Amino acid sequence: MYLKGHNMAMDRIAIVGGGPGGLILARLLQLRGLSPVVFERDTHPEERPQGGSLDLHSETGQCAMKQAGLETEFAAASRPEDQGDRLYDIDGTLLFDCNEPTDNRPEIDRTVLRRILLDSLSPDTVRWGCRIAKVTSADKGFVIVGDERDEHFDVIVGADGAWSYVRRLLDDAIPVYEGVTLVELGFDVERHPAIDRLTGSGKMFAAGDNCALITQRNGHNHIRGYAGLRLTEDEAKQWQTLSPEQVRLALQKAFAGWAPMLTDIIETDEIIGVRPLYALPVGYRWKSREGLTLLGDAAHLMSPFSGEGVNLALTDAVDLAEALTSGGGWTAVTRCEEKISARAATAAEGAARGLNGAFSSEGVTPLLEHYRARRLGN
Ligand SMILES: Cc1cc2nc3c(=O)[nH]c(=O)nc-3n(C[C@H](O)[C@H](O)[C@H](O)COP(=O)(O)OP(=O)(O)OC[C@H]3O[C@@H](n4cnc5c(N)ncnc54)[C@H](O)[C@@H]3O)c2cc1C
Repeated sequence: MYLKGHNMAMDRIAIVGGGPGGLILARLLQLRGLSPVVFERDTHPEERPQGGSLDLHSETGQCAMKQAGLETEFAAASRPEDQGDRLYDIDGTLLFDCNEPTDNRPEIDRTVLRRILLDSLSPDTVRWGCRIAKVTSADKGFVIVGDERDEHFDVIVGADGAWSYVRRLLDDAIPVYEGVTLVELGFDVERHPAIDRLTGSGKMFAAGDNCALITQRNGHNHIRGYAGLRLTEDEAKQWQTLSPEQVRLALQKAFAGWAPMLTDIIETDEIIGVRPLYALPVGYRWKSREGLTLLGDAAHLMSPFSGEGVNLALTDAVDLAEALTSGGGWTAVTRCEEKISARAATAAEGAARGLNGAFSSEGVTPLLEHYRARRLGN
């Protein structure tokens, strides 16, 4: 289909990346009669742990699920009971405990969200084990250069996350290390009743001088934990080369003097990985180029301390699906890109503030103020 008044076909759409943003975009486009292809580097949906629980906000993430016709599936799989917040100081004193959710943000495991989105797609929409590493421009559109064959598309959407290949086709922006690294930990509730009790019904934060211990209730009797601290980028890279037992020793040093009920988190169970946090500059806007666009983390990577990342990715997809099928050609997509960037800028400011509040030389005070203000609705 050539769009009236626009010299550009937008039928053949490739989506690079089968995370939440890419998959919901595929679903939304299919609901509008298109047949997008999703290229995903994972060889199958369970190839790697997808990470912890995510909360979908009523005005953004949940709204996107509704637009995708998946609100019933989301309601059945999400956990509204797991929205509680707890805050401890390093002595183990409970400073804040809120079990009544102040807003509507039910949690859902990433793997479950991915499964709901995958099940909603036509068979063979996702090409597993396809890591896109070469795209060339064609007379009209672009060619994805594959191992076995090359394929032509009118539009390529980069939904390929933090280190997006598609973003590199647009400009040379590189995410910057934010000075904080999280060590990701995993616990089975039945084997760790003390961590179960510590966590309560949602998230637990314990904050000290520039470091924090965090646990988060997931589904299937699992708790995810994070030990976060300020490291230089070189130190963080070095930590990534350590064995789990060496990482544990380094954490014991960093959290020496904290109450044992808290350091229990770093003493027990599985060390999943060392994750330095990176972000694109607040207000990042890539150079627009007809036929190539971005959404989600590829467009606006930020620290997880706003809790907005997945909500933005899902909402971007709603806006982009609308723009791609609006009949407004690339002008509509460019307008949509502006909207995506502007919305993300506000969230990215919040994420940077959240990170600095959680890892502060003032210890737990900024977080306590944040929780109290949120409870009062400020
Ligand atoms: C520790 C941590 C905790 C977080 N907690 C929260 C939270 O509580 N709430 C929240 O809203 N957000 C949270 N986030 C952020 C959230 O995970 C992301 O914002 C969200 O996953 C972005 O979705 P996406 O679809 O844009 O990208 P991603 O989820 O990163 O998906 C990108 C996909 O692209 C694939 N891919 C990458 N490169 C290629 C390639 N070249 N070819 C093919 N496929 C490729 C990847 O395999 C992946 O499947 C957290 C992030 C982290 C790191």
